[in-house]
Amino acid sequence: MALIITDRFDGGNIKVLDSQDPGDVRLEIRDDIRASLFQWFSFQVSNCKSLSLNLKIMNAVKSSYPDGWKGYEAFASYDLQKWFRVRTLFDGQVLSIQHRPDHDVMYFSYFPPFSYDRHQQLLARSQISTHCRQEELGLSAEGRTLSLLMIGTPSPVMKKVWIICRQHPGETMGEWFAKGVLDRLLEEGGIAEELRQRAVIYVVPNMNPDGAILGNLRTNARGANLNREWMNPTLARSPEVYWVRNRIHATGVDFFLDIHGDEDLPYCFAAGCEGVPHYSSRIAGMEAEFRSLYENENPDFQQKIGYVPDEPGNADLRIAANYICETFGCSSLTLEMPFKENKGNPSQDSNWDHNSAQTLGASLVKVLAKMSLLST
Ligand code: ZN
Repeated sequence: MALIITDRFDGGNIKVLDSQDPGDVRLEIRDDIRASLFQWFSFQVSNCKSLSLNLKIMNAVKSSYPDGWKGYEAFASYDLQKWFRVRTLFDGQVLSIQHRPDHDVMYFSYFPPFSYDRHQQLLARSQISTHCRQEELGLSAEGRTLSLLMIGTPSPVMKKVWIICRQHPGETMGEWFAKGVLDRLLEEGGIAEELRQRAVIYVVPNMNPDGAILGNLRTNARGANLNREWMNPTLARSPEVYWVRNRIHATGVDFFLDIHGDEDLPYCFAAGCEGVPHYSSRIAGMEAEFRSLYENENPDFQQKIGYVPDEPGNADLRIAANYICETFGCSSLTLEMPFKENKGNPSQDSNWDHNSAQTLGASLVKVLAKMSLLST
């Protein structure tokens, strides 16, 4: 039986150059649909049981973040539930994934996928909670709904927290994080109840449903990087940002989080808005409190390593967190998680994966409940 390799499913991305020899399979990651960017891959290999597979991604060095392959190990699964890392080598040009499968069909992915079906199930399960409302804000470029989940009861005294995820569709950990937030936030009693008494949490689990289905790394179906569209989103180019931004303007915001994955840095961290003209010591204080509470709450989060802050006044206001901080004068952070193993977790046997991202999301509920902004 010949090997069969395909990406013809939701979120799939691979091009097969030559699959004749299981020990020398040549593949390429394809560009985003309308942009010259690539890094995300996801594909299925069939008829592969007990073969010594060597899957070579020949164009790895030309990817958007070639340093992202240094120290990286790919994810694989047989049952699409349990995902584990497999031996992966980068020689500076080609990324080789090597494995001897125990079953006939094996899936390989840059990070565990979060499918559209799973996305819909997350929305459906959340909206039947008495604590949650689901609102469709508008349609994406390809006509998929932009879904908002509102948790808590809006009133003039309630604080407003916005959490948006997966503007960059290949950063699937963003939606695993959203699932963790929602599952914890919709629990009865406890810390979830405490937070719901004080704040309304607005969650957009997937800002870029088209890009996610298309197997894109960073852009929507029109080739727009949504996290550069916040100054002037248009229905023609970036309807996803247009609808969500409108709703944020209608509602207001006291605390904003934009959830991402970083290809290169093997750490979880939160980048602030230091370069925004309206940045202040009050905002800096809230950001510092957030980071320190998170570090105490979850060992995957740390605050030693992250992006170099922008110089004062030099922020790119097309970026969601900067735009929100500048427009609303509120604390606004971009939270990043790794694709690689997390070097920021002090535990020797930590295995960073989609479950860790979900747990990090669940931890956010306690962090928010403890923040002085929301506890007074
Ligand atoms: Zn991102």
